[in-house]
Amino acid sequence: MDLPNHHVSPARSAAARPVETFTRLFGSLLLFVYHCFDRVVINGYLSGLSRPGQVVHFFQKVVGEPVIGKEVLSRRTNYQKSVESFASNHGIGLEWAEPKVRKEDYVRPALRRMERAGRHGVYFILKSMEQGQTFRSAVPRFATGDPNYRILARQRSRFTHSYFYIRDVMDLMFECAARWELFNDRRNPIQIVRIKDSTKRRPRPTVLTVTEYDAILALLKEPYRTMVIVAQCLGLRVSEIAALQWDDFDFEKNLLLVQRSFVSGHVDDVKTEYSRDYVPLHESLVEILLAWSKDALTTKVGWVFASALTNKPYHPTEIQNRHIRPAACCLVECPKCGAGVGVWCRQDQLTPNGKRLQVHEERRTLAGQYASIGWHTFRHTYRSWLDETGAPMKVRQELMRHAPIQTTMNVYGQAMASSKREANGKVVGMVLKPVRASA
Ligand SMILES: [Zn+2]
Repeated sequence: MDLPNHHVSPARSAAARPVETFTRLFGSLLLFVYHCFDRVVINGYLSGLSRPGQVVHFFQKVVGEPVIGKEVLSRRTNYQKSVESFASNHGIGLEWAEPKVRKEDYVRPALRRMERAGRHGVYFILKSMEQGQTFRSAVPRFATGDPNYRILARQRSRFTHSYFYIRDVMDLMFECAARWELFNDRRNPIQIVRIKDSTKRRPRPTVLTVTEYDAILALLKEPYRTMVIVAQCLGLRVSEIAALQWDDFDFEKNLLLVQRSFVSGHVDDVKTEYSRDYVPLHESLVEILLAWSKDALTTKVGWVFASALTNKPYHPTEIQNRHIRPAACCLVECPKCGAGVGVWCRQDQLTPNGKRLQVHEERRTLAGQYASIGWHTFRHTYRSWLDETGAPMKVRQELMRHAPIQTTMNVYGQAMASSKREANGKVVGMVLKPVRASA
């Protein structure tokens, strides 16, 4: 590394503004080169390309594709191939990640080898089949003015993710900077790097009040209504709700075993080993579930919420977009038609299919954050209401199923089971007030 001496001025102010100093010293050596648009680039720098409208613009105006159909979206770059040849050309390990093995531990020997050799660069690549965001394209059900018009919607699907483990040159430069006492911050330096326009904070998740939840629920019809009640009483992920089967319930012990998820049409084990766990069922919720079991569609597999069209679980995103969000928009009055809170818009004419209960665009705008709530809102709300119960952190963690499972039937386990039931009961009390009041 050849650094002109006059750049090194170990002034006192250097410690106060380490990044500025660092940039002044090494800025000319830093260069980002994009060989392809991978997700790091898209999510970090071109975040616009994660929005449907921008994707349409990109394909139509930049790539020159008038119709963004399935073929366009499923067209692949040679990214996977490039990764493979990159690995073999450089003698870098490329393997599927083993489940339940910490990735960092697995690749550490390769990092050590690189450190000993005093080299930098990619030292290992792990592949992993995971969920991520993709887009799907649909032809509108009813003809529009533009025959090329396609509805582009986000969806979650599973595809191969490549994780690059890199010992980069920044590492060497920071060591050097530390030696010159220009940089003595103990944090990981990347934490203090800001990239313009890429550090927008995620908005705080919307959490519903009891009144707001009630108003939304009142506008939903079955089976969405019962699905939302389950979501709010148990804080399950929607993929877990969609995958529920009657055999998962033990109505004698009032327990539910969460063990499956349904994602993009595929049944799978739940997200993490922690998520597979028993959750307590409040008796008011049991009543509701038993009542629902009489109306529910009977399927061979025993799905709790199956669509009559497919005999399979519903697609939760559709329910979210067509029912939950419009209902949430009704938390504000409609400035267009004057429909009050908790009342659907007065529509001059039915939507073409005569089914969709739409709200006026003006109301959607006015609804702000409520217009973009989703299934996860009920989980956030559950967590928030759970916090209000004052239950110990450990109990709340277990009910969210983030923490390791207590499988042992020791005294602690027993106490935990009853604490969990008690804390959950308080939340269910908020969700199902009418039932409690009439009980
Ligand atoms: Zn309206």
